[in-house]
Amino acid sequence: MKVSIDPELCYGSNDCAYRVPAVFTVSDGLGAVLPGQEGAGADPSVRDAAEKCPSQAIRIEG
Ligand code: SF4
Repeated sequence: MKVSIDPELCYGSNDCAYRVPAVFTVSDGLGAVLPGQEGAGADPSVRDAAEKCPSQAIRIEG
Protein backbone atom coordinates (compact mmCIF):
# COMPACT_ATOMS: atom_id res chain seq x y z
CA MET A 1 0.00 0.00 0.00
CA LYS A 2 1.18 3.45 -0.89
CA VAL A 3 1.94 6.03 1.79
CA SER A 4 2.27 9.74 1.13
CA ILE A 5 2.01 13.05 2.95
CA ASP A 6 -0.28 15.85 1.89
CA PRO A 7 1.90 18.99 2.02
CA GLU A 8 -1.20 21.17 2.23
CA LEU A 9 -2.11 19.61 5.59
CA CYS A 10 1.27 18.77 7.15
CA TYR A 11 2.79 21.39 9.44
CA GLY A 12 5.99 19.53 10.30
CA SER A 13 5.13 18.42 13.82
CA ASN A 14 7.69 15.58 13.48
CA ASP A 15 5.39 13.02 15.13
CA CYS A 16 5.60 10.61 12.18
CA ALA A 17 9.39 10.74 11.96
CA TYR A 18 9.63 10.24 15.71
CA ARG A 19 7.34 7.20 15.61
CA VAL A 20 8.64 5.55 12.44
CA PRO A 21 12.06 6.96 11.52
CA ALA A 22 12.64 4.16 9.00
CA VAL A 23 9.81 5.51 6.85
CA PHE A 24 9.26 9.20 7.65
CA THR A 25 11.48 12.22 7.96
CA VAL A 26 10.96 15.97 8.26
CA SER A 27 12.73 18.16 5.73
CA ASP A 28 12.44 21.93 5.38
CA GLY A 29 9.61 21.94 7.91
CA LEU A 30 7.47 19.33 6.19
CA GLY A 31 7.04 15.62 6.74
CA ALA A 32 8.21 13.35 3.94
CA VAL A 33 8.34 9.67 3.10
CA LEU A 34 11.91 8.46 2.74
CA PRO A 35 12.97 7.33 -0.74
CA GLY A 36 12.17 3.67 -1.28
CA GLN A 37 9.58 3.58 1.52
CA GLU A 38 6.59 4.73 -0.53
CA GLY A 39 5.14 1.20 -0.46
CA ALA A 40 5.21 0.87 3.33
CA GLY A 41 1.55 1.74 3.85
CA ALA A 42 0.56 -1.71 5.08
CA ASP A 43 3.05 -1.61 7.96
CA PRO A 44 1.09 -1.38 11.23
CA SER A 45 3.47 1.23 12.62
CA VAL A 46 2.89 3.39 9.53
CA ARG A 47 -0.87 3.03 9.91
CA ASP A 48 -0.56 3.98 13.56
CA ALA A 49 1.49 7.05 12.65
CA ALA A 50 -1.18 8.03 10.12
CA GLU A 51 -3.92 7.74 12.74
CA LYS A 52 -1.91 9.84 15.19
CA CYS A 53 -0.78 12.56 12.78
CA PRO A 54 -2.20 15.73 14.37
CA SER A 55 -3.27 17.14 11.02
CA GLN A 56 -4.32 13.86 9.37
CA ALA A 57 -1.85 14.57 6.57
CA ILE A 58 -0.67 10.98 6.02
CA ARG A 59 -2.47 9.19 3.19
CA ILE A 60 -2.51 5.42 2.82
CA GLU A 61 -3.95 4.09 -0.44
CA GLY A 62 -3.92 1.05 -2.62
S1 SF4 B 1 2.92 13.74 11.92
FE1 SF4 B 1 1.64 14.68 10.33
S2 SF4 B 1 1.84 16.91 10.65
FE2 SF4 B 1 3.52 15.91 11.74
S3 SF4 B 1 5.26 15.94 10.28
FE3 SF4 B 1 4.20 13.95 10.08
S4 SF4 B 1 2.73 14.27 8.40
FE4 SF4 B 1 3.36 16.29 9.12
